[in-house]
Amino acid sequence: MPYQAEYIWIDGTEPTPLLRSKTRIVADGKKPAIWGFDGSSTNQATGSNSDCVLNPVFTCPDPLRGPKDVLVLCEVLLVDMTPHPTNTRAGAVAAAKKYASFEPWFGIEQEYTLMQYGRPYGWPEDGYPAPQGPYYCGVGGDKMPGREIVEAHTLACIRAGLAIEGTNAEVMMGQWEFQIGVLGPVEVGDHLWTARWLLNRIAEEFDVDPSFAAKPVKGDWNGAGAHTNFSTKQMRVAGGMKAITAACEAIGKKVSEHIAVYGVGIEERLTGAHETAHYTKFSYGTSDRGASIRIPWATAKDGKGWLEDRRPNANMDPYQVAQVMVETVCGAASGGSKAPAKKAPAKKAAAR
Ligand code: ADP
Ligand code: MN
Ligand code: MN
Ligand code: MN
Repeated sequence: MPYQAEYIWIDGTEPTPLLRSKTRIVADGKKPAIWGFDGSSTNQATGSNSDCVLNPVFTCPDPLRGPKDVLVLCEVLLVDMTPHPTNTRAGAVAAAKKYASFEPWFGIEQEYTLMQYGRPYGWPEDGYPAPQGPYYCGVGGDKMPGREIVEAHTLACIRAGLAIEGTNAEVMMGQWEFQIGVLGPVEVGDHLWTARWLLNRIAEEFDVDPSFAAKPVKGDWNGAGAHTNFSTKQMRVAGGMKAITAACEAIGKKVSEHIAVYGVGIEERLTGAHETAHYTKFSYGTSDRGASIRIPWATAKDGKGWLEDRRPNANMDPYQVAQVMVETVCGAASGGSKAPAKKAPAKKAAAR
């Protein structure tokens, strides 16, 4: 019997891309092959030259359909099989290859806000819920709207084989988080984009829309981020603190390059209040949730481990964030601009 493959891709919507998907019925015993779509409907092509190519890059079981059905995350190519301008994965693939010897690892904390009827899920029709305080990791009463969606999404991610690590309720009512990791620079993006698709798809069943907006409610309410935890082999071994400090210093020299890919609306979220550092400033410190980069207490205690860049927004593109992080940190560690790392042989970007 044939099976269903859900082809998923990232579109060209500006300023923040959306996910798209469509179903293909695949013959028994066959693999999901290259496919295409109408790019003029996704801001990826003009009507007169509308064909874009879907190239499968990551396949996993579809937890919402039958046992044989699959999700197929695709990168978008032009018809000459080169990366489409909206294809940010290709850049992450190149950086991952160039700096593979550093064995970069990522863990991303994806925050999001469940929305219904234009306001956060569970909020009263008029006015506001009780102020922030009881919601973070809260339990009980009517405080925690959306838990049924979170439960369904977590189970779906596990069944799909995604590297989901945990979930928690966030500081604002209706805001939640899940973590994906640890994975390489390309894989973390593949798993995170697939997990985002599953969240969108599952929330449909509840008439709810997950928002990845950086500051979904103005005022005295926390924004939504995607804290990016990062390490290299050098940071994870004894004495790794030296490499962690060097990484923080290197990142501090590239503030605008990093902020440029940390997501739309970052100036609304990184105001210096609500557990953030101002987006134009840079600081790092142990256990400091008001710093741009936090060195977790376990890392400080062991003298090795990882760093947490707290600046990326919930709506960031993990491929772009991983690329800039690897290029900045591994680039500086291999001599910066003076002595660029050995060029990888010019092969077709095929890392899956
Ligand atoms: P918090 O909410 O306290 O900031 P979380 O538990 O939500 O922390 O997230 C911690 C993240 O750190 C996880 O995504 C995990 O994968 C990541 N992490 C742990 N060890 C490493 C490491 N060596 N390199 C990179 N990321 C790591
Ligand atoms: Mn967290
Ligand atoms: Mn959080
Ligand atoms: Mn965090």
